[in-house]
Amino acid sequence: MYIILLGPPGAGKGTQSRRLAQEYNLKIISTGDIFREEIRKESELGKKVKKYLEAGLLVPDHIVIELVKSIIRYPECSLGVIFDGFPRTIKQAEELDRLLSNCNRKVDIAINIEISDEDVIKRNTYRRVCINCGRVYHLIFDPPKTSDICDFCGGKLIQRKDDKEDVIRKRLEVYRQWTRPIIQYYSEKSILVNIDGTKNIDEVYNQIKTVIEKRVKKLRSHNPPD
Ligand code: ADP
Ligand code: ADP
Ligand code: ZN
Repeated sequence: MYIILLGPPGAGKGTQSRRLAQEYNLKIISTGDIFREEIRKESELGKKVKKYLEAGLLVPDHIVIELVKSIIRYPECSLGVIFDGFPRTIKQAEELDRLLSNCNRKVDIAINIEISDEDVIKRNTYRRVCINCGRVYHLIFDPPKTSDICDFCGGKLIQRKDDKEDVIRKRLEVYRQWTRPIIQYYSEKSILVNIDGTKNIDEVYNQIKTVIEKRVKKLRSHNPPD
């Protein structure tokens, strides 16, 4: 299965994709996580993209597409992928379709997690991330057991540089201009499903699971196993 998680900054894409990947044994491609890791390593790619992330602007399409192209070739991607934060422009969506069709695959479902602008600010302002394993917490809605320490690996929790209110507002504006049109793109292909992202983490997860399982059933009925 090839699943896309869409939604504004802070909708819960990262939180949900980790759970889904575990349950359905899928690889996650999170372009944001990859860029942050490359910036941390001070790699060539990291140096190229740093200024865009810090300003809340999109990394140019050709850089993002090159990156995804190189990862999608990995054998573990042939079993299925959850895309978190990619595609973010129509150009990226079209390019992804082309990449997948080259190996006789396609996007099976695009899940659009909806939250209000007010929630975007609240979710991102109080988000904390483990510097070691990347796991995401929320100071109010999903706090760690010990403050500032990751429950899973004991790593230190930090605030992302772009999770300051002025940059969050910029990211929201960029989302509206460039990313929201993708909803229409997938809707026209009849693979879009909207999810109420304002519910708690477990409830959102259950909504997504129901949608995926329905889709799996439909796919099986079209391609029955031998
Ligand atoms: P995204 O990847 O879409 O930017 P995250 O998964 O990083 O979003 O979530 C943003 C913040 O909101 C994090 O602090 C996370 O713990 C919190 N969060 C995620 N889902 C929910 C939810 N359903 N209810 C409340 N807080 C949530
Ligand atoms: P969010 O919590 O806002 O969903 P991400 O972790 O997905 O954040 O992305 C963080 C930043 O990384 C973006 O603001 C942007 O600068 C860059 N980025 C990530 N994915 C893409 C993409 N597909 N296209 C362009 N820029 C991207
Ligand atoms: Zn950790």
